[in-house]
Amino acid sequence: MKMKPIVGISSCLLGNSVRYDGGHKKNNWIVSELGSYVIWEPFCPEVTMGLGTPREPIHFEETSGGLRLVSIKTKIDLTEAARLSAQSLVASMPSNLSGFILKKNSPSCGLERVKIHYDKGPPRKEGIGIFAKTLAREKKYLPLVEEGHLCNPLFREHFVTRVFAHFHFHQLPAKVSNLQHFHQEYKYVLLAHNELGMRKLGNIAANLKGLPVAEIFQEYERVLFATLAQMPTKKSRTNSLQHMYGHIKKEVGSKEKNYFGEKLDEFRRGDLPYIAILTLLRSLINKSEKNQYIKNQKFLSPYPEKLKLDHLL
Ligand code: SF4
Repeated sequence: MKMKPIVGISSCLLGNSVRYDGGHKKNNWIVSELGSYVIWEPFCPEVTMGLGTPREPIHFEETSGGLRLVSIKTKIDLTEAARLSAQSLVASMPSNLSGFILKKNSPSCGLERVKIHYDKGPPRKEGIGIFAKTLAREKKYLPLVEEGHLCNPLFREHFVTRVFAHFHFHQLPAKVSNLQHFHQEYKYVLLAHNELGMRKLGNIAANLKGLPVAEIFQEYERVLFATLAQMPTKKSRTNSLQHMYGHIKKEVGSKEKNYFGEKLDEFRRGDLPYIAILTLLRSLINKSEKNQYIKNQKFLSPYPEKLKLDHLL
């Protein structure tokens, strides 16, 4: 059986009844679509810290003592308890997570724009949930996303690409040759995210200074996730498509050559969806007899094709 990435998730998004009101916030795409290709590891930081379900809702208040997490009616200050609980929860997480999906707006799980209440005036969306903040600090390279962003096809594709890259990277046995192989396969994915990052990673994987393997992997991981953190654009995807095509163009007839050139221009101008040009490139590459290197490129399918993430780009 094929192994799947393990992805952490705010438990309520899976339909588990752990919210303050005893309800959940099941997200259908996450559960029914993405759920077929990953293994979930659910967490509810508020239940873990012993608040129970149902429970009194909590929120952030800016007070004379600074930013506090308090229960809304009874005004119990839960800030320190939440911090300590988040720290031990993150420390006890499995080390093989490949990503984490967080519930937006929550003073525990929200990654950004969580409401902070003031004595006067309306609340401002300036906070970060205590658990989310701890997670981002302690798991520096773990791909994180709020579920709200997954409605946007660009964010969705970006997150899933990073999850599968994280998964593949962490499966590598610790040998420099494996890292070099990984780099070869991911070369045009990386180029679509950031060319400079791709080149830096090539130098690290080449290990010309003969550094210890653990050091090379650490440095590669740092630059890899900084590179993948940048979202591809039409321009940068076009660049990768062109480079990929460059490897097979000698095998392509003149009619197909012209057709590919026209379609690439249409994609660049925004007149053709990404899936159309990618499918055309895939079919040209499939016909190629010699080029195994290009056939193995993750750029052709960086995640399970059935997710259809590239259909809306
Ligand atoms: S948002 Fe986070 S803390 Fe709130 S119910 Fe969902 S998992 Fe629990």
